[in-house]
Amino acid sequence: MNEFEIDSYIEKLASNKNVKSFYPIAICKMLKFPIKLVINRLNKLVNMGYLKLKFEIRCDNFDIMDIVDSYEDYLGKNIECEDCDSVTEFVIGLENIFPIYYINDNYREYIKKKNVCLQVQEKLNCNQISTGNYDSTLNTPTSLKDIILENTSVSSDSIEEANNKIKKKGIVDKAKNVQVVLTLVNTIHQSWEWLEPYIQPLVHHISDFIK
Ligand SMILES: [Zn+2]
Repeated sequence: MNEFEIDSYIEKLASNKNVKSFYPIAICKMLKFPIKLVINRLNKLVNMGYLKLKFEIRCDNFDIMDIVDSYEDYLGKNIECEDCDSVTEFVIGLENIFPIYYINDNYREYIKKKNVCLQVQEKLNCNQISTGNYDSTLNTPTSLKDIILENTSVSSDSIEEANNKIKKKGIVDKAKNVQVVLTLVNTIHQSWEWLEPYIQPLVHHISDFIK
């Protein structure tokens, strides 16, 4: 298991014009790597300018409603989904946030040039993600809530409690509710530093909330 295998896989994806974005879980499944290793490396590639981290906002029925750089403004908001059969309002919580990585255009350009230079004509073996013949679970993202639940030892009760506070509007005791979310954020910060880029918008969200 070597993190550079992730780099070369991303390079293959970048040379496939049908692949614009991917979920971290897809890389885990393709390379059979643990999510911690994958997310950690992908976030380094974000810092290096290869990739851009975004977040899908999905309704409770999994419809994509928006794709944003930071989800902080969505948390706790009442949203109506136009794609749902019966228009129902629901509140955005961590289970509605799905991290997704976009391949930067200039990285894609660079790979294209590099491949031309090397006269690589062979078909790259990276079509599983973009063609029909692939494991459909690769395009099934994992919500931020599940990523935290599955990869940290924070109890599901604490996550549930913080998520409920995030989703609660018109809160009477703001300070107390922020404290619960802050505790979750701090715990994740201390022990699961690799999740930092995922919870940064949440930190911004609560700092606005305190004002
Ligand atoms: Zn919907």
